[in-house]
Amino acid sequence: MKYRLENLIDIEKFRKLMEEFYNISNIPYGLIDLEGNVVCGAGWQDICTKFHRVNPKSAKRCEESDASIKNRTKKLDLNKKYGFYKCKNGLIEGFIPIIVREKHIGTLCFGQFFFEKPDVEHFKKQAEEMGYDKEAYLKALSKVPVLDKEQVEGYMRYFVRLAEMLSDIGLQQFKLKDSEKLLLQYNKALEDLVADKTEKLEELSEKLQNDESQRKTIEENLKETNKRYEKLMEVLPGGIVIHKEGEIIFANSSFAKLLGEEDSEKFKGKSVFSFIHPDHYGKAKNRISRSKKGEPLSLREYKFVKVNGKVIEVDAISTSFPYDGETAILSVIRDISYRKQVEKLKQKVEEKMKLLKEVQEYDKIRTEFFANLSHEIRTPLNLIYSTLQLLEYDLKRVSNDLEKTKFNKRLGIIKQNCNRLLRLTNNILDMTKIDSGYFKLKFQNCNIVKIIEDITLSVAEFGQNNNIEIIFDTDVEEKIIALDTNAIERIMLNLLSNAVKFTGTGGKVLVKITTTDDTVIISVKDTGIGIPKERINTIFDRFTQVDKSFVRSHEGSGIGLSIVKALVDMHDGEISVESEYGKGSEFIVKLPARQIENENGELENCKSDKDYKDYMEVIDVEFSDIYAS
Ligand code: ADP
Repeated sequence: MKYRLENLIDIEKFRKLMEEFYNISNIPYGLIDLEGNVVCGAGWQDICTKFHRVNPKSAKRCEESDASIKNRTKKLDLNKKYGFYKCKNGLIEGFIPIIVREKHIGTLCFGQFFFEKPDVEHFKKQAEEMGYDKEAYLKALSKVPVLDKEQVEGYMRYFVRLAEMLSDIGLQQFKLKDSEKLLLQYNKALEDLVADKTEKLEELSEKLQNDESQRKTIEENLKETNKRYEKLMEVLPGGIVIHKEGEIIFANSSFAKLLGEEDSEKFKGKSVFSFIHPDHYGKAKNRISRSKKGEPLSLREYKFVKVNGKVIEVDAISTSFPYDGETAILSVIRDISYRKQVEKLKQKVEEKMKLLKEVQEYDKIRTEFFANLSHEIRTPLNLIYSTLQLLEYDLKRVSNDLEKTKFNKRLGIIKQNCNRLLRLTNNILDMTKIDSGYFKLKFQNCNIVKIIEDITLSVAEFGQNNNIEIIFDTDVEEKIIALDTNAIERIMLNLLSNAVKFTGTGGKVLVKITTTDDTVIISVKDTGIGIPKERINTIFDRFTQVDKSFVRSHEGSGIGLSIVKALVDMHDGEISVESEYGKGSEFIVKLPARQIENENGELENCKSDKDYKDYMEVIDVEFSDIYAS
């Protein structure tokens, strides 16, 4: 880097020093920079300033001299400490280079002077030539000092010292500048560093601020999330409890309800184990620590103790759960007491079903047995019956009346008992058919009034034999309804035989039909023994007999009325009984008055043309329980 003279030397101080020197020596001086500019100087000769540099012609020479000096100072042999120069106007100058760090930075000049007395004549001529005021010019010339060469060299040595001093000062200054530069560089680097650090610090602070606001946002989000979680958990039907290190930090109202507590807040801070049954502490502890490690666990059943001390059965599942920025355990608990009860009930139902199946199986076997038995009895019975008829036929040819009467009576007993056996087997067979669903009715649209009347008439004859009056009454002559003739026959004969059976001689049996648009009511009313109140409700149950004693006055199996009820039910009808013990009974059958159509949409009309006489044989069987008097 290049330094200018004025940057390395304190010019002002130098000027003062040189002025003092000038005052003593009267030798003018000048300090000239590398460009030839006079940085400072004093005591310029009048001859120069007032004449040579004023006149254009001589001034031109001054300029040429200046340029020459400039050149010389530039090309100066730096080893030569000083030099002299005679200007074009004839005056002498001395010059000493100022060297700093081996670099020429300026020149110290002094002069003008003469080594010898000047040639006045030459100057006179010059004055004339240039047109100077000769007198004033010569006066100025006289002021130019004439110096002895030795004296000049003395001055020069002084100036060399001075130049060396200036060089030293310049060097110091240079170094100072260098260090200043360095310092500036350091300073700059330091400033850059500081700026860089400041920038980084600002970035860091901004980041910190961002982080802080982010942290706050996360915190708020977390709180918000927790609130949402709590709200969600509050509405869930299952019991939810969040606990940390065994301590409850949240419980929803379902959990409180489960344990019989109204306020779920009361659980906060309590131990989660305080509700677990002591038998299940170990299991619960183990599973909670496993779920803390993040292990997935399935449902487990526990016993919990409610606040009132009651033990309930629950199932629970736990999982680790982020809560309030920490890891907690979330347990979902359900009351399974109800489910357990249902399970127990289910088990009971299964047991009962098993039992029912066994009973049904047993019932099936029993039904089959009865069916077989009935068949087995009916076959020999029929044989006995036909043999009996043959005997009756043979007996007609016996002439001895006494013998005839005797045999007739005995044959009568055999016949009646055959009929009783037949009735019993028929009943058992029907009962088993009804039970197994094989008893099918064949519905036809028939005049119910005629059927009932015919049956009643045919029984009336039997009643007369027993001195019982049987009366028939109806409000209509004809009422066509859908019925099964055989079933109606069985119903009526059963009710009538019972009525006759339980009515003593001299009694009355009234069969009455009452109709409405949609019902036919058949009443069989007797003036018999009646039925005790406590028996009325069970009268239609199977094997029911009011008089169960061995000495009972009437025979029977207790199946008849149950078959009657089943047959009435099959007609979608109803049967009921009204009775006053000791005064008589009334059986009322209500049948729906409806008609049926066949597959072609035609009415299915009655094909049976049974007359009352046709019932006689059946009556023998149905009435076989009644001892003919
Ligand atoms: P049973 O073959 O024994 O007559 P039922 O089922 O026909 O069987 O009758 C059951 C019981 O109801 C009878 O044993 C009798 O005690 C009672 N009962 C039925 N009809 C009458 C009636 N008209 N009067 C009094 N008791 C009756």
